[in-house]
Amino acid sequence: MNEIIKKASLTHELSKHEITELLKDQQYNKELFEAADRIRQKYVGDKIHLRALIEFSNICRQNCFYCGIRAANKNIERYRLSSEEIILLANNAVKSGYKTVVLQSAEDTYYTADMLAGIIQNIKKNDVAITLSIGERSYEEYKILKEAGADRFLLRIETTDKELYKKLHPNMDFENRIRCLRDLKKLGYETGTGCLVGLPGQTIDSLANDILFFKKLDADMIGLGPLIPHKETPLKDIKADGFWLSLKVLAITRLLMPNINMPATTAMETIQPQGRILALQAGANVVMPNVTDELHKNKYEIYPGKKSLNYTKLEEQFKKIGRTIA
Ligand code: SAM
Repeated sequence: MNEIIKKASLTHELSKHEITELLKDQQYNKELFEAADRIRQKYVGDKIHLRALIEFSNICRQNCFYCGIRAANKNIERYRLSSEEIILLANNAVKSGYKTVVLQSAEDTYYTADMLAGIIQNIKKNDVAITLSIGERSYEEYKILKEAGADRFLLRIETTDKELYKKLHPNMDFENRIRCLRDLKKLGYETGTGCLVGLPGQTIDSLANDILFFKKLDADMIGLGPLIPHKETPLKDIKADGFWLSLKVLAITRLLMPNINMPATTAMETIQPQGRILALQAGANVVMPNVTDELHKNKYEIYPGKKSLNYTKLEEQFKKIGRTIA
C-alpha cells in the first residue's frame, strides 16, 4: 500500500486496480491522508480559499432520490430570492472580503439565462469571481452566462455508474450531464464536478471510476462528500456512514490531481465532528461559508442538520492546523 501511495505522490497516476486497492484498504488511511496533505501543501499551499455561498432558490424541477429539495417533497417551504436580494447578498459578501461568490440553486428555470446574466453583470461590477451551481442548462444558456462574466461552474456527476445514475435520477439523462460538463469546459469555465459517496448500490469499483473520470475530464475543482439521508426522500432509511470513504476518495483525488481546488464540504462537517478539519488535512484547500440570509438558509435543506460556519471560529480552527485564510 505504501508503494501505491508513493507512486501516486510522485507520478500522480494510478491504475484502476491500484485505486480500488487503496479504497478497500483499512490499514493505511493515516499514510494516505498524510500523503494527500503533503501534496496539497506542495502544489496549492497552506492558504485556505473561502467562497461565499448564496443559495438563492430551493424550487426544483428534478427529483433526485437523495435530495431534500426534490420536486416531490411537499413538506418544505419553497423560496426564490429576487435579483435585488441576490445582488445585495453578493455585495455584502464582497464587502466582508470574499473574492468569490458562489450562486447555487435548485434546478429552477424561473431564472432565465438573461435574468441570471443581469445578476452576474451587476455583481461583476465588484472585483469578484463568480461560480455558478444551478444544474443542467443548454450550451446557449451556459454561453450567455459565461459572456455575462461567470467564471466557474460546479456540476457534480454524482456517480459515473450509469445504471445507478439512472435509478437515482428519474427523467434525467447521464449523457446530458456529461454533455453539460463538456460544454462548460469548451466555453472556458473553470469547471468543477464531484460525486456523492455512500449511495445505495455504489461499489468501490464505481468510486474508482469516478476518480478516473475527474482526471479524464481534467476538472479544475472537485467537490465530494458523504450522502446524508433526508426523511422526505426515497433514500430516507439508508445509513449515513460514508464519511471515511469520502475522505479517502478526496485524498486519492488530491494525489492524482495535485493542482485542483477541493472544498472541505459542509456534508463532511455535518456527518462527522471535526469533519471539515479532517478534510482540510486530507487534501482539501477550500471552504464555502454560507452567506444566505438567516430567513432562507434553513429552507435550503438538501439534507438535515446542515452545519453553518462562524467566521471567527473558522480562522482560529485554521490557525490550529497551521493554515491561514487566503
Ligand atoms: N441543482 C444544482 C445541481 O444539480 O448541480 C445544485 C444544487 S444541488 C442541491 C448540490 C449538491 O447537493 C448536489 O450535487 C448533491 O451532490 C448534493 N446533495 C443533494 N442531496 C444530498 C444529500 N442528501 N446528502 C449529501 N449531499 C447531497
